[in-house]
Amino acid sequence: MQVGETVTDIQAMTSGECVICSKNHDNPKKEDIKDVAPGDTNWHRRTMTGVLERTSEKQSIYHNNSFPPSYAYQGHHCIALKTLVQDANSSPKDRILRLNHFLKKVGFYPNRDKNCIGLPEMASKKRQDYENFWLSIDEGKPLQLHGPGHDHRYFNACTAMMQRLLELIVPDAEDCEKTSKSDWENDLKELIAQAENHAFICLAGASWVVHRKELSEAIRLYRQKSPNKDVTFPVLRLQSQGGEGPFKKGK
Ligand SMILES: [Zn+2]
Repeated sequence: MQVGETVTDIQAMTSGECVICSKNHDNPKKEDIKDVAPGDTNWHRRTMTGVLERTSEKQSIYHNNSFPPSYAYQGHHCIALKTLVQDANSSPKDRILRLNHFLKKVGFYPNRDKNCIGLPEMASKKRQDYENFWLSIDEGKPLQLHGPGHDHRYFNACTAMMQRLLELIVPDAEDCEKTSKSDWENDLKELIAQAENHAFICLAGASWVVHRKELSEAIRLYRQKSPNKDVTFPVLRLQSQGGEGPFKKGK
């Protein structure tokens, strides 16, 4: 599965190539691949405020272990929409058509609650608007700030994670021949949920930073006024949600 594949590209695979592994083998898997992003509003940009998978583990990152937080916040896609959809703000198109087709088939969509986290709002970088982030520290539950225009390193981290997912899920021809399509789809369903968990953990713990310069400046200013207050981002496990699987650090 590659960037830039179109419905026509996939339909051209009529000479016995398998739609999952792109190889010729016995009983190749066939599928009528349809594009996803142009027509499905669950794959379009919209405000994600109020969206969170309300498990106790995920809500533990907020004051009183309860979402929504008391400060102004913004909903953020854990796996960036831009990683899956190009021109997401104007005319959405699938980045990797087959991947999106099968992700949709197994119940994933970017706007679902499992793929969202609420982070302290930084309405504008120009206003040096760090108040909501500071409130999260005051409450003893620091979370990184979130505003317009994320750092490219965050997008790179999402892209690398999805590339890893593809490496894990696309089998070689020999393994593909032995696996049924429904077993393969179940594996994909589990893997994308683990990828979402990994992204959630990285964003909550600020190992993926969406605004590096502003976050370090906001921490520096906070420490000037409250030198004794601890700014430690949460370390989550998400054990009850299927964990991070192969995305966990060190695996
Ligand atoms: Zn195959």
